[in-house]
Amino acid sequence: MSQSFTPISSLGEFGLIDRMQSRLADIPRSENLIVGIGDDAAVYRAGDTKLHVVTTDVLIEGVHFDRTFIPTSYLGWKAIAVNVSDVVAMNAKPLYATVSAGLPRNFSVEMMDGLYDGMAEACKAYGMELVGGDTSTAHALYLSITVIGEVDEKDVVFRRGANVGDYLCLSGDVGGAYAGLKVLLDQREQLENMGDSYEPDLEAFQYVIRRQLRPKARLDVIEGLKKAGVRPTSMIDVSDGVASEVHHIGLRSGVGATVRVPAVPFDPETRAVADQFMDDVDAYALFGGEDYELLFTVAPEDVQAIDDMEGVSVIGTIEEAAKGVRAYSPDTGLMPLHPAGYQHFDGPPQTDYETFDGEEGPSFDDTEFSGDGA
Ligand code: ADP
Ligand code: MG
Repeated sequence: MSQSFTPISSLGEFGLIDRMQSRLADIPRSENLIVGIGDDAAVYRAGDTKLHVVTTDVLIEGVHFDRTFIPTSYLGWKAIAVNVSDVVAMNAKPLYATVSAGLPRNFSVEMMDGLYDGMAEACKAYGMELVGGDTSTAHALYLSITVIGEVDEKDVVFRRGANVGDYLCLSGDVGGAYAGLKVLLDQREQLENMGDSYEPDLEAFQYVIRRQLRPKARLDVIEGLKKAGVRPTSMIDVSDGVASEVHHIGLRSGVGATVRVPAVPFDPETRAVADQFMDDVDAYALFGGEDYELLFTVAPEDVQAIDDMEGVSVIGTIEEAAKGVRAYSPDTGLMPLHPAGYQHFDGPPQTDYETFDGEEGPSFDDTEFSGDGA
């Protein structure tokens, strides 16, 4: 009997998730489930007005990190922070975490202490508890974290919910984590080429390296929004790059968007790195991943409150779906903005926006999402 073998790479990450979802379609759906696969976290009813959110992310050595770069305490911090980021993207507060650890033979007790110190630090910073997990041997260091959070039903925010006329907003600055990765990869290459005679110079790029190795989840931003009386109409965290996340909001909300490129903030150090590598800093900001900032939309009546908030920028507007997702800059005018995102350890982000030459923007076609970074 012949068995067909279709490589999973032929589907791309998002095609793969759609395919998995289709295999699960027959499972009877609980009336308490509000959102399953397809947002930053799943959401279910946990009481009369309380919702719980749950999210899982893995970090695998050689795929998501290189152990020679990252102190184990930073790795522990990051593993928690990236999960908290998905919880806050639902406008929810993180409560409990579990961790499954796959440990290779060359991992020491001291490294383990560092890992758990980092996780403990993150749990304290985000007001959570680590309540369990699982431990196994593995061929490479592997961490799988699950975080459960809570939100009042009236406060929950999904990827869906953006309306035509809303403003697109972004916390903090972006492109820094990618710039940090560039610096670290470059230092590794120099080290390999020059051996022990090479002294890495990481002093000049402290900010971007920290953005890469020790990202913060923006729990402070959702608290600030609440204080300002603003409930976003939609929200997502920036793990795969701003362009990719705008597409996710567009796809789930059934809208298009225009991103004003000069309004997308980056740190001066991010620009310095882009300049050093003769790259376009806007490509870092639009397509670089792992910044873990929040991208969200607000109704027009809330835009003044956003303008008054420190560390949040208005970077664009929500438009009809037929217009697609576009980028505007004074130099180039309006162009389609493709979701080309971050590829882990695999070359620069693509500057994938081209001259806009028609009335209609690109449609929201799932095939556009193939080849996206994990
Ligand atoms: P994020 O980048 O916010 O973590 P992902 O792109 O990883 O989100 O996942 C998108 C959606 O697909 C989420 O709802 C996630 O729970 C779901 N998902 C991802 N991988 C799987 C899987 N192997 N099986 C079932 N659902 C998955
Ligand atoms: Mg997310």
